[in-house]
Amino acid sequence: MTRAYHKKLNGQKWCWKCQQYKLLSEFYHNRFMYDGLDNHCKACHRTTYNYSSEYQSQYYLANKERLLPKHRESAKASRISRKQIIT
Ligand SMILES: [Zn+2]
Repeated sequence: MTRAYHKKLNGQKWCWKCQQYKLLSEFYHNRFMYDGLDNHCKACHRTTYNYSSEYQSQYYLANKERLLPKHRESAKASRISRKQIIT
């Protein structure tokens, strides 16, 4: 079993997609991963997960706490504006 994508070296991490070491800052945080970072870099991330609904839900779960207050705020805001239109 190959573990090439688990390799880390001098603050760099192996991207299994573009097959090269990249700075850790080039990887998105992903709490579902063993080391808290995606196993592919941001550049590859865009091409891989752009239209992945699986990733969308993963992202939602991972950022739930951060996203939910925003949802509430915008829901509140739209309620207020709707009320203003009605009255
Ligand atoms: Zn990459």
